[in-house]
Amino acid sequence: MGIPEKMHAMVLEAPEKALRAMEVSVPRPGPQQVLIKVNACGVCRTDLHILDGELPNPKLPLIPGHEIVGTVIKTGDQVEKFSVGNRVGVPWLGYTCMECRYCKREQENLCDSALFTGYTIDGGYAEYTIADQRYCFHIPNVYGDAEAAPLLCAGLIGYRSYRMIGQYAERIGIYGFGAAAHIITQVAVYQGKQIYAFTRPGDTDAQEFARRLGAAWAGDSTDLPPEELDAAIIFAPVGSLLPAALRATAKGGAVVCGGIHMSDIPSFPYRILWEERVVRSVANLTRRDGEELLAIAPKIPVKTEAQVFPLEHANKALNLLRQGKIQGAPVLLMSSS
Ligand SMILES: [Zn+2]
Ligand SMILES: [Zn+2]
Repeated sequence: MGIPEKMHAMVLEAPEKALRAMEVSVPRPGPQQVLIKVNACGVCRTDLHILDGELPNPKLPLIPGHEIVGTVIKTGDQVEKFSVGNRVGVPWLGYTCMECRYCKREQENLCDSALFTGYTIDGGYAEYTIADQRYCFHIPNVYGDAEAAPLLCAGLIGYRSYRMIGQYAERIGIYGFGAAAHIITQVAVYQGKQIYAFTRPGDTDAQEFARRLGAAWAGDSTDLPPEELDAAIIFAPVGSLLPAALRATAKGGAVVCGGIHMSDIPSFPYRILWEERVVRSVANLTRRDGEELLAIAPKIPVKTEAQVFPLEHANKALNLLRQGKIQGAPVLLMSSS
């Protein structure tokens, strides 16, 4: 297959500016990298935080996008995991040093020198991208390109958050019912757990969506659930949800914050934390999270609901996501695929 010199990409030139459609050079893969023809790329809330300047020091200019599904069209000399023609998924974690204390104790998600796709290295809002094969995944055949894309961040961060609530949690609250929630609800229901979905007050569409996916209860984030929760996961970037979730959670329960950014958390009385409730955050993902989710998802099977946009409408997709007007996950589909 001939590899062109130039490609279309949506580029962030500076924070707080809209992405610009540009023609840029097609990147060349290094020894451990694959060159990928991008078929689909998910749009994630993290992309909004990068665009808004809420995450420090992005690569600039930057091609965002870290839920990439594509086809390998060229491999570097040391690539063993993929061949030309393979379908490949590229997640947020793009590189780790494999040497620091975090990498050595199976916390590569916390690596001091980690690089992140679509943040500190270029991502998938483009026709082509390169990625380090060691952090890429094979995509299960049951998934189409647009369906698979949300698994790569919403799914992975959701899955890591879900792992962190502990084995005893049966009644699980989810605050913020977007892309991550809709994936992890299916995993939890499959495993016999009950999901309590909390949405923006009055968002009956999202509540209906949650019930359709098997949630036992859905209501406003300002409400208390009908029963005490064993654990809660907060995906919405709203700090005031943390005390709300603690108040809804039983003794010994964990409240896991799945987002990369959150507004300030208001102070709260110690008694709602006491009795061994735990508050923790989740950062990034490990390759193990990815292998596990991509093994279990086709068995359930997890279905993703993608709302598809052409690449050049990336700004529109981002704006709708910001306004909470997308059900499931927004995905950019490359026109040539
Ligand atoms: Zn490291
Ligand atoms: Zn993401």
